[in-house]
Amino acid sequence: VAAAPHAAASVATHCPYCALQCAQTLTVTAGERLPVAVAGREFPTNRGGLCQKGWTSAEVLRAADRITAPMIRTADGGFREASWDEALGLVADRVSALQAESGNDAVAVFGGGGLTNEKAYALGKFARLALGTRLIDYNGRFCMSSAAAASNRSLGMDRGLAFPLADLGGADAVLVLGSNMGTTMPPFVQHLAGVRSRGGLVVVDPRATVTAKLTDGGAGIHLAPVPGSDMVVLLALLHIVLAEGMQDAAYLAARVEGLDEVRRSVAQWWPERAEAVTGIPADTLRDVARLLAAASPSREGRGAYLLTGRGVEQMAQGTDCVNAAINLALALGLVGREGSGYGPVTGQGNGQGGREHGQKSDQLPGYRMITDPAARAHVASVWGVDPAVIPGPGVPAVQLLTSLGTPDGPRALLVHGSNVVVSAPNATRVEERLRALDLLVVCDLVPSETAMLADVILPVTQWAEEDGTMTNLEGRIIRRRAAVEAPGEARSELWILGELARRLGCDAVFSEDAETMFDEMARASAGGKADYSGITYARLDAGEELFWPCPASSPGEPAHPGTPRPFLERFPTPSGRARMIAVAHRGPVDEVRHGATTYLVTGRVLQHYQSGAQTRRVAELAEAQPESFVEMHPLLADRLGLAAGDVAILTTARGEASAPVRLTEDIRVDTVFMPFHWAGEGSANRLTNDVTDPTSSMPEFKVTAVHIRAALRD
Ligand code: SF4
Repeated sequence: VAAAPHAAASVATHCPYCALQCAQTLTVTAGERLPVAVAGREFPTNRGGLCQKGWTSAEVLRAADRITAPMIRTADGGFREASWDEALGLVADRVSALQAESGNDAVAVFGGGGLTNEKAYALGKFARLALGTRLIDYNGRFCMSSAAAASNRSLGMDRGLAFPLADLGGADAVLVLGSNMGTTMPPFVQHLAGVRSRGGLVVVDPRATVTAKLTDGGAGIHLAPVPGSDMVVLLALLHIVLAEGMQDAAYLAARVEGLDEVRRSVAQWWPERAEAVTGIPADTLRDVARLLAAASPSREGRGAYLLTGRGVEQMAQGTDCVNAAINLALALGLVGREGSGYGPVTGQGNGQGGREHGQKSDQLPGYRMITDPAARAHVASVWGVDPAVIPGPGVPAVQLLTSLGTPDGPRALLVHGSNVVVSAPNATRVEERLRALDLLVVCDLVPSETAMLADVILPVTQWAEEDGTMTNLEGRIIRRRAAVEAPGEARSELWILGELARRLGCDAVFSEDAETMFDEMARASAGGKADYSGITYARLDAGEELFWPCPASSPGEPAHPGTPRPFLERFPTPSGRARMIAVAHRGPVDEVRHGATTYLVTGRVLQHYQSGAQTRRVAELAEAQPESFVEMHPLLADRLGLAAGDVAILTTARGEASAPVRLTEDIRVDTVFMPFHWAGEGSANRLTNDVTDPTSSMPEFKVTAVHIRAALRD
């Protein structure tokens, strides 16, 4: 890797990992390819803080096995280096041949929630125009789809938190459902200091996580319900609010519809019945309902927020569960009011922007449905094509992955920014499907587990090597800035997609310049819910704080200031009112029989991000968390004949995994926890269920019935 000449500089950018997108300053020395220092930078979300992943992020730039040239699989199963011309020519020829034989849908695309907005947009355009395929979806389906679906059907729009994070600081109560931000995004916790000081933090999690322990010492209440019963907690809280007349009647009358049906749907969930299902004492449920109600502005409180995370969203009833949370927030008059609100805590770095610009199987840029004739006409005009050229909706991620290589399924897959062999549910089946393809092309930084199955690996630039924008968990658009040169032959996906499109005979323009691509994306989004048309790099670089929607202003008018709190005046529904949605508890699909099986819940550790493809290559992080593990209560371990450090073998209907046991009393006795950052024997996703939510197509990662036994000792 040749050193590239640079002037000494400090570059203001953001962390490559999670949706908090903490602000960083990278210091670069003249002539060096790698930054010499990473520092936290003052910004409204992280206030100068970074977590261990952020501090060590520059290490990923110097990963020893970084892919620096295109790689083509050889006859003996290995790889050889190739020129870009050869690799792209090979991909284009094989894609063309497969499509000539089996139609355009013979080729599918799988994107990622970590791609910049520009790349996410370019990928959607590439799939629809250069490949002409319906089949594109992305790993955000595993992350935000339930919260997005619930917000869309209730609030008319999915805008993440829909308020600046700093607003949390003034609240009297915050209810956190299934998120462990104390571990996964530690700088977030600063924003909970105010509510903790007022004793108003409530955390719902089957584990006493770092976040749950923030409630200790009178700072709040931790509820540890039976895994999969979170919705019953929410239904019971709403039951109590209505039974005790604590709802915000004036707000409901003015801004909400659907209360009567919802009232009937929660009538059966009186606290004692909910206690029997959730294990949470009825009086504790009453305490929480009253705490939230007292914080409502209608009762002279300073405000309250409800936040959902993957713990309640990654369920086959995930959408309904989020709607139960929104129903509660609406009943208390919290949504669309400054100082209160509902929001999902987005996980992936561009989990928000990644779902707005056309990577989803059913959407076009601007967060518009691909079946909407007006949206098709507008986007087609920006793309310079007839609307009829744009294919119709495809299928969501799990359905796409399970169809690969089947007689009626795609024969080729292009993967961008996703390590599905580790991150998708029922991972063994995913690997089988990838192996059944005629052609697998993976764009990656490093030889991830998915890249190692590819026929062609295309090396790509990463965060500190590229310009672009990301949209954080608040719906705030931020600038990613290049600080260093990419190594070897690594190129941006923007360039790769343009080159492939040209070789496939596509006339559409694909700029490799991020700002040019952003401007086109912004035009394509005009008039949609996620309207970026008033945003420019110049405004972002001038330090303006811009949240979408931010439409372009008319000539002579001042620029639109963006919309940090989008629901203050009205909800973007036909009536302008939010809709309460009546939902019913169904429970997890895997049945857990008392005494025979145990609940498996999966999640993340501080040191690793998603599939671990990046963080497992950072020495400090790998040393701190070198391998997968199974966390369980000592009483459960006793019953199973396991001790700390023993290897436990876990079996579900999907497969088997094994990992060393860690003992903790911070987990329910009937539940074990496994992080999902590792492949191979320790892969939690070999166990997880790929059954999906009927509305959002979110897989049921979060609750799995698992049998556990001890591995034979030597
Ligand atoms: Fe911030 Fe998330 Fe990066 Fe940690 S991983 S520094 S919380 S953006």
